[in-house]
Amino acid sequence: MNVDEIRAKLVAERNELAERVRKIEARIQRSEKPLEQDFAEQAVEQENDEVLDALDQVGRKELESIEAAIKRIDEGTYGSCVQCGGEVSAERLKVIPYADKCRKCAS
Ligand SMILES: [Zn+2]
Repeated sequence: MNVDEIRAKLVAERNELAERVRKIEARIQRSEKPLEQDFAEQAVEQENDEVLDALDQVGRKELESIEAAIKRIDEGTYGSCVQCGGEVSAERLKVIPYADKCRKCAS
């Protein structure tokens, strides 16, 4: 796979993820409206909120990683480890296209 193909894939992934994060955030906002439920329902609702918050954070982190990878492609530094400057193996990039560290630095 060449870099252009990887970039296109990352952009598609970013758009999809951005949409997912947007939806999660819309749901979080909705659930922040005043509660008019009994206590048991509130407890369930709160649990859902925590799950949503966690999803939101994971999604945002992934989104940042993808954005950063696209930026590295544009800057011509994609595939170089941000820590040691060494090469991030093609195999590793295949599994994690937005990996910014070589296997050694990531572990
Ligand atoms: Zn490294």
